[in-house]
Amino acid sequence: MPSLLEVKNLQVRVEDREILHGLTLTVNAGEVHAIMGPNGSGKSTLSHVIAGKPGYEVTGGEILFKGEDLLEMEPDERAAKGVFLAFQYPVEIPGVATMTFLRTALNAQRKARGEDEFSTPDFLKKVREVAASLNIPQDMLRRGVNVGFSGGEKKRNEVLQMALFQPSLCILDEMDSGLDIDALRIASEGVNALRTSDRAMVVITHYQRLLNYIVPDHVHVMSKGRVVKTGGKELALELEASGYAQYEDAAA
Ligand code: ADP
Ligand code: MG
Repeated sequence: MPSLLEVKNLQVRVEDREILHGLTLTVNAGEVHAIMGPNGSGKSTLSHVIAGKPGYEVTGGEILFKGEDLLEMEPDERAAKGVFLAFQYPVEIPGVATMTFLRTALNAQRKARGEDEFSTPDFLKKVREVAASLNIPQDMLRRGVNVGFSGGEKKRNEVLQMALFQPSLCILDEMDSGLDIDALRIASEGVNALRTSDRAMVVITHYQRLLNYIVPDHVHVMSKGRVVKTGGKELALELEASGYAQYEDAAA
């Protein structure tokens, strides 16, 4: 069986500036990978290119998802195939109730896979159950997507989407940013509940703290658009003690 995600020698430009300079990363089903690195090292760029966000030019390398060429697929096709990105800065969609958004997105994905759409009662039951487990109040589901949500509510809303869509690859970009310790614990428990042998997670974070809650199998350090070091979970603790400066020099 092919790896779930294979990023090979990926080179990416934004507005004529190369941001990723040959990045390689392999993620197998069942694994949790952490990507750590200082601000500006290209972590969000990598997550955006995998999800298919416009504005990035891939000038070299490839990305395979379940053995297929991901870069050939439209963003909605990637989502239907099981790619999910929890954004560092979730977008607000005024005028679209969260509940409507979730149902439309979920049913579109199911339809694209040739599966039956959820009926309204089945969907409501499911979404209420998952929302309750994440401490998301019902009234939040009636509000516009992320409109007026606190930082913690936005991140919990991303975890809610993951729990509903059941993607095979979850990329979490700085899920801990803007979360207090209780919100971080609740969101992390939601993520941990989704760890299965046929799903993988890529947890992007600046700080080691999140990795006390979501314990990774592999840790990669990114610097200046490349993976400069890979190790086990102990690498995150080493970084916390020694900082990123040593890798900045190595990548220069
Ligand atoms: P990280 O998530 O690790 O903090 P990013 O991927 O956000 O890093 O950014 C990597 C580099 O790419 C930074 O130098 C940033 O300024 C640049 N960059 C990212 N997006 C854009 C953009 N849309 N336009 C111009 N530069 C960008
Ligand atoms: Mg970022």
